[in-house]
Amino acid sequence: MTDLATAGSGAELTRRYTGALMNTFGTPQRVLVRGEGAYVWDADGARHLDLLGGIAVNALGHAHPTLVSAVAAQLGTLGHVSNFFATPTQVTLAERLLEIAQAPDGSRVFFTNSGTEANEAAFKMIRLHGRARGASRVLALEGAFHGRTMGALALTHKAAYREPFEPLPGGVEHVPFDDVAALEAAFAAGVAGLVIEPIQGEAGVRTPVPGYLAAARELATRHDALLVLDEVQTGVGRCGHWLAHHDPEIGGGVVPDVVTLAKGLGGGIPVGAVIAYGQGPGTLFGPGNHGTTFGGNPVAAAAALATIHVIERDALLAHVRDLGAAWRAQLAACHPRVTQVRGHGLLIAIELDAPIAAHVQAAALEAGFIVNAPTPTSLRLAPPLILTAEQAATFTAALPAAIDAGVRAPHAQEQS
Ligand SMILES: *Cc1c(COP(=O)(O)O)cnc(C)c1O
Repeated sequence: MTDLATAGSGAELTRRYTGALMNTFGTPQRVLVRGEGAYVWDADGARHLDLLGGIAVNALGHAHPTLVSAVAAQLGTLGHVSNFFATPTQVTLAERLLEIAQAPDGSRVFFTNSGTEANEAAFKMIRLHGRARGASRVLALEGAFHGRTMGALALTHKAAYREPFEPLPGGVEHVPFDDVAALEAAFAAGVAGLVIEPIQGEAGVRTPVPGYLAAARELATRHDALLVLDEVQTGVGRCGHWLAHHDPEIGGGVVPDVVTLAKGLGGGIPVGAVIAYGQGPGTLFGPGNHGTTFGGNPVAAAAALATIHVIERDALLAHVRDLGAAWRAQLAACHPRVTQVRGHGLLIAIELDAPIAAHVQAAALEAGFIVNAPTPTSLRLAPPLILTAEQAATFTAALPAAIDAGVRAPHAQEQS
């Protein structure tokens, strides 16, 4: 096998990337060859503090020994069996997920390989629920991101993602974000389901006002519609609770009908899950309704069990809450151009007073920090949950210079 760590310089590998991969993601910012804890190293030997965590995925950082040994042990025992068969790993993970989700008796899990697939399954559950009631309308929110496959894309709001691929599955309507009256009006008749992110990550870490989810729950119950919470980005400890809607400020005791998970669930191994709460949602899918070849495979399940185990063993939920709160306060005070710092736990956005976020991101990368700019004016942080206060402080100290560099970047003020 090629020794990937010495496969070539970043420039060479980027040239090969461009020649061999479809241009769906633009030019990669760096070629990364190795990671350990919260750090990654690029092909030219530079070390970066990974404050994006593979977009809210690497909950335990890179090369975490517990995750590595769990995956290796499972792969060395039984790697894949198809869903004609069950494995103890998969069953145990389903039970663990129902526990951490605080799901009532009768709740059930379906496994997927990604977030979009989890939302695809949830969409099909909404269809089944609606079909039995003659309801075909599905509500989602403006600013929503639910994935790139056709069903999840229909739920996603951004026109640039959707329009080239129309016609999409029908019946989806987007209602204004954070507007209970608009939601109430949209509920008039024939709504089969409502899909909400407890915090809109891709839209720039936007949290609905306290009480919004409770109002959505009340409306969904009144109209016999399913309330689906997309916790693909916010779940599995990211926001300082197992699920973000467990945070009293966000969820206020709301019990959803369906929750979708992915990103952080496997600590870097692709795995997603759909949790259906209670007997009704839990039995919507029957034999033949839905399926997957890889979903629930024991290697992915072992990764998820290891991730959940370490979060619990190392008390990471409390760590995420404490570090997140302290860090957000420090970030808010670090530079006059920071107008707001949003988020919960370690899902954080830094709002800037001008559309310079891409330039600040680039300057931060030069300084050895990986962050991203989900909107022209904001930076997003979604670091490993194992990030230390000392590591976080190095970014707080470096950010002012990155902001100043962003302000000075050519055409910085014209960026849109
Ligand atoms: C990332 C994301 C998805 C899509 O997940 P993939 O694994 O990329 O398919 C869906 N919903 C939310 C809220 C996300 O952040």
